[in-house]
Amino acid sequence: MEGVEVIEVAGKGRGLCATKSFSTGQVIISARPYEHVVFNEHADKVCHHCLKQPNVPMPNRKSTPLLKCGHCKFARYCNRDCQKSAWEAHKPECAAIKRVFPNVATDQTRLAARLFWKKNRNQKNNTAEDLPISVEELESHISKRTEEEKSQLDEKVYSFGDYVTYDDMPSDDETIYQWFGAVDCNAISLNDPRAVAVVGVGIFLEVALMNHDCNPNCVAVNNGTKVEVRAIRAIEESEELCLSYINPIDTHPGRQESLTKQYYFTCKCNECENGNEQEDLKAALLNDKILKEKPESEDYIVKMTRDALVRMEKMKSIQNFERLYNQAVGTLKQQDSVLADTHVLKIAVLNHLVEVCSYLRRPSDACEYAQRISDAYEKILPAIHPILGMYLMRLGVLQWQIQKPAAFETLGRAGGILSKTHGDTHPIFLDVVDLMRQCHHEMQMSPEVQNQMKKVRKEANLGIGLGLPNHRT
Ligand SMILES: [Zn+2]
Ligand SMILES: [Zn+2]
Ligand SMILES: [Zn+2]
Repeated sequence: MEGVEVIEVAGKGRGLCATKSFSTGQVIISARPYEHVVFNEHADKVCHHCLKQPNVPMPNRKSTPLLKCGHCKFARYCNRDCQKSAWEAHKPECAAIKRVFPNVATDQTRLAARLFWKKNRNQKNNTAEDLPISVEELESHISKRTEEEKSQLDEKVYSFGDYVTYDDMPSDDETIYQWFGAVDCNAISLNDPRAVAVVGVGIFLEVALMNHDCNPNCVAVNNGTKVEVRAIRAIEESEELCLSYINPIDTHPGRQESLTKQYYFTCKCNECENGNEQEDLKAALLNDKILKEKPESEDYIVKMTRDALVRMEKMKSIQNFERLYNQAVGTLKQQDSVLADTHVLKIAVLNHLVEVCSYLRRPSDACEYAQRISDAYEKILPAIHPILGMYLMRLGVLQWQIQKPAAFETLGRAGGILSKTHGDTHPIFLDVVDLMRQCHHEMQMSPEVQNQMKKVRKEANLGIGLGLPNHRT
């Protein structure tokens, strides 16, 4: 790792620090996974070696089906090359998958087992690894777990034994706890090439050294199984390098809850300790008058929204989109007289509306709601942030669908941000460039031709990913 060193940070333990300055968008770490797995849910959809999806049809490319591992019939690959490269790590896994069939080990057990097999392999082959930290040294916070969490871990140890066989298992449970804990606290989510879904998870030892900050100076984005850490603002020499482990679209209490629950620490970053304007906006009311004249209205709206969001999730899961739409519109109407658009609970409702309107083919409504979200993101997120870049891309596509002239400019702004957060060879950046090219081309056509294009696009229901940021899972 050039330009980076491991340091001790007061109150936080190990961390990474810049030994030189970095400019916005510059790659600081480019890491390959120590080990990774594709989630069970996506096991038949992406290549287990490189995460590509040659099976998904794309314009200008013929789709080819994934190859199935002949032994376990579980792992899939783009081609023989990917299968060959994956075999060393997959070999013991292949046997384990067959052994427990028709049961399937959890994603967490599968990743912990791969760490275990890799360690055995390295010991057997006497491979000395040139890594900044070993898997055993990863933070697992085992001692901080409650009794209930510990008994859950015990159950996992049993299923781990079934999977890797009891003969092969280390005799002390503590070692296995350590692996499960390390997976819990350090695994990084891996998006498919277009960030439509999180398809897997991996351990990246260099990235695992980075501490959390709610207003970090870096982001980690994956391109296949490679994770790149980039600066999202100018970084000076000897600054600590930090990532956000969690979704930044949350208020201080919400973030603390997530961090304590999964990572066993209380964040004391500058944003949490001192707050700032962005922080205030995430819980802002429409105006001060509301708080003075009707202080109870905030509590009412907050509670009402939380209940409504639970119902909306339920309707989404049973795909009752008309009811989801009505519920969301009703909730938003009530929120509109009390909460500002930057309020995280309002953003949550608006997100449902964009999604459901896109699904119900109401692009004008979807576009209007997406505009509100993107305006809110611009106020609460840093100027260069992957969530903002991805969202502007989504807004640009919606604007283009309804032929708003602003589409080209919106896509351009998305491209400007994504070139810094994702880099200019990332498929998502290449997509936005392609969209801009098509959009520019179309803007020069006659209105009749434009209308024709609009119809075609409506049929195609052009959609893009939700821009899930990579964070620890
Ligand atoms: Zn592949
Ligand atoms: Zn196999
Ligand atoms: Zn914080």
